[in-house]
Amino acid sequence: MSALPTPTSAAGPWWRRLHTALMHDYNRRAATAWWTFALLGAGVLLLCLAQLASKGWVVWLQVLAGTALAIAAGLFPVRVPGTKNAYAAGEISIFLLLLMLGPAAAAVAAACEGFVASHRTSKRWTSRLFTPASATLSMWLAGSLLQMALASLAAAGWSGAAVVLGAAMVFSTLYFFINSTLIAGVLQLKRGERFFQPAGVFSVFRWVGMAYAGSASLAALLFFAYQQQGVGALLTMTPLLVVLLMALHFFFRQQEEAERLRSASVEVAEREARLAEREAEVAARHLRELQASERRFQSAFTHASIGMALLAFDGRVLLANPALAALLGQDADALKQARFQHLVLSEDRPRIERQLGLTHASEFEGFATEVRCQHAEGSPVWLMLHCSFFTDPDAAEPCLILQAQDVTARRSAEAGLAHMAFHDSLTGLPNRRRFLECLAGAVARSKADPQHVWAVMFLDFDRFKLVNDSLGHNAGDDLLQQLARRLQEKLRPSDTVARLGGDEFAILADHIEHERDAVVLAERLMDALCKPFLVAGNDITASASVGITFSAFGYDNAQDVLRDADTAMYKAKSEGKARFAVFDASLHTAVSARLRLEGELRQAIAQGQLAVVYQPLFKLHASGPGQLAQNTLTGFEALVRWKHPGGDTLQPMAFLPIAEETGLMLQVSDFVLHCACRQLRQWQQSSPELAELTISINLSAHDLAHPALVARVSQAIVEAGLRPEHLTLELTEDILMSDISGAVVVLAALRRLGVRLAVDDFGTGYSSLSHLSRLPVDSLKIDRSFVHQLRRNSDDAAVVAAIVQLGSTLRKAVVAEGIETADQVDQLRELGCELGQGFHLAQPLTEQAAGDWLAARRAPLH
Ligand code: C2E
Ligand code: CA
Ligand code: CA
Repeated sequence: MSALPTPTSAAGPWWRRLHTALMHDYNRRAATAWWTFALLGAGVLLLCLAQLASKGWVVWLQVLAGTALAIAAGLFPVRVPGTKNAYAAGEISIFLLLLMLGPAAAAVAAACEGFVASHRTSKRWTSRLFTPASATLSMWLAGSLLQMALASLAAAGWSGAAVVLGAAMVFSTLYFFINSTLIAGVLQLKRGERFFQPAGVFSVFRWVGMAYAGSASLAALLFFAYQQQGVGALLTMTPLLVVLLMALHFFFRQQEEAERLRSASVEVAEREARLAEREAEVAARHLRELQASERRFQSAFTHASIGMALLAFDGRVLLANPALAALLGQDADALKQARFQHLVLSEDRPRIERQLGLTHASEFEGFATEVRCQHAEGSPVWLMLHCSFFTDPDAAEPCLILQAQDVTARRSAEAGLAHMAFHDSLTGLPNRRRFLECLAGAVARSKADPQHVWAVMFLDFDRFKLVNDSLGHNAGDDLLQQLARRLQEKLRPSDTVARLGGDEFAILADHIEHERDAVVLAERLMDALCKPFLVAGNDITASASVGITFSAFGYDNAQDVLRDADTAMYKAKSEGKARFAVFDASLHTAVSARLRLEGELRQAIAQGQLAVVYQPLFKLHASGPGQLAQNTLTGFEALVRWKHPGGDTLQPMAFLPIAEETGLMLQVSDFVLHCACRQLRQWQQSSPELAELTISINLSAHDLAHPALVARVSQAIVEAGLRPEHLTLELTEDILMSDISGAVVVLAALRRLGVRLAVDDFGTGYSSLSHLSRLPVDSLKIDRSFVHQLRRNSDDAAVVAAIVQLGSTLRKAVVAEGIETADQVDQLRELGCELGQGFHLAQPLTEQAAGDWLAARRAPLH
């Protein structure tokens, strides 16, 4: 039950709560002073009221009237102009009460007047109570002292009006002094300062004290009048005094108002003067700035490094600066006669005219554009233009300001870049990207109109890589440039030839009448390429394999066209180079089979799927009629085979072209070289009769071009322990003749190694005799095509005879290959050819079969 605290115990005793509510900003000393003087004042007030209580109602009426007057006077303070101080005339009536009725009456009146006045000026009860208390205390003290002073003066014989007047003035100032000391003292204590500060008191004392003294003297005069004339004099003088004080109050108020007005108007006038002054200053500055800016504009316009002109809205040149004149190669004055749009090239003129035409439209905000202008010397100049409104206060009409910069260099650089993006830097021909663009256009046109016929040719040069490898890249580049020129010469202007990359070119023969035209064109191109090119001092004949496809296949996109032309080109190449082939749908399967083989070949070498077969080579003996002569074995020719994991054994023609194109050829050659040399050495060592057996190995064009060929060959013979003269290297006539000078150097080096050299497939190429004599070779192998149809007195017989003759003249051995009948052996013998190979004599044999064959041959000898 006692859990709930009582409100009293929670907030402390009532006096403490009252204290915090009313005096929260009072410190202990200030509060002590307040309470002391407030209680003293209250005590004195009670004492005074007690003194008055015994007096009659007339006295009470006088006190009441005096108090009322004092309070009323407080409503009309006389504020002294030019100061913050005001004088309330209420003190006059209070001092009058003091002189008439003594200190008790005056103290009561002062208390009432103080209470009402502080009630008006403050909301805090501390000051509403302290002001009357302090007034009571001060008045009672000063009044009592005055009474005592007057009594003692009278006792000393000093009496009369002057004494009363003087004493009243002195004690009224004492009253003021005590009262303001008490009020200021409590405030100073609140601020933590000393209670009494004479400097503060005396600063307000000066004229307020004097005003009190004046009030006291007026009260004394009224008192004398009352003493002599009775209350009637007071009743007449009081209104007069009131009127006087009110007149003073209003006069001073008016004065104050007039003064305020006057100072306000002075202030306004001053402000206006200052404003006017500032405006004049601003106007002058504007004028100066305007003049300066005009001068700056003039100078900027004249000396600007970019071209500038002022134009009328119709394009007339009103003013042009020297830079613009220089850009156009004209005279600045001559420009003034012109319309700007007439200086622009006709292609760009409509654009600039349209832009200028917009100047009257409300949304015109100027424009920026790039146009070609006519230079006086004829060449076009690219100008970047910026045009906007120009508002010149002096100009009669608004006009346009035009800035022009020469961007010819950038434009031509851009054009150069664009050219680079779409052209091959080596030949200057369009590149693949550009070609596909043109082709896409042609595809679209023929789809829209089937009458529109075109053909695409894909060209690949047959021996380009060889030239590059043997003569170097500069020679390769030179050849490509010559090829590009020659192709271009043979084409119509409507055709497009592009270099797709490497030695691949493509031709779009647009607007042809019939597919046959494309075939004719392909033949014409191949003819043109047959004529030799002079590259790095060598005559080089080029040939291309060409694949052709036509719009009639109904293509949807350019990529497909190129793909099919490429496929056809591969067909042409596989059919024996320097040919063309027309695309047909079956090629797709052939190509994919070929691609598969390509992948498999890479693995074949690593996985040991390659093998070498050996075809015996003989010294031929004529077999007389009915008798079979035993030909003497001189050696073997090594021929490569691919034991395909599928089960078939692939012949060289099925995979060597792929090896050549994919760069696997050197690995194949090395394999055969090492394998065959080892095998031969083994056979040589197996029997003394076989010690002089030889081996012939075929080299490719890549081998001939390979810089380390000599080293590779010598490594193979050293490893096998073979004597160099037992190794013959065969190179086809074709390969040797494609770069005769290079071949001569390499063959000479091989010769120095001690190995023998043979020209393979002799008679098919176009070697001239002069070339042949330069070649350091040991033997010529007559191509089997001549042996194959060898009949007495036929052309082939004449060729063989000629070759044999040539061989004996040049002191080179002559070998016949592809001997399939005994008759051929006899004829060759008759024609003087002593060496040969062929199915009739022996098939190419596997390592094992050859070993057995050798053993079987030896048996009857022993
Ligand atoms: P080749 O150098 O002219 O080799 C002779 C080719 O004629 C061989 O064909 C051989 O089997 C064939 N042959 C031999 N006697 C007769 C005959 O009486 N009648 C007919 N019709 N043909 C006969 P193979 O082995 O298919 O080789 C073809 C070509 O492949 C070779 O022609 C040679 O140029 C090339 N080749 C073969 N092996 C290699 C090699 O290891 N390296 C290089 N670079 N080329 C090779
Ligand atoms: Ca051969
Ligand atoms: Ca041959």
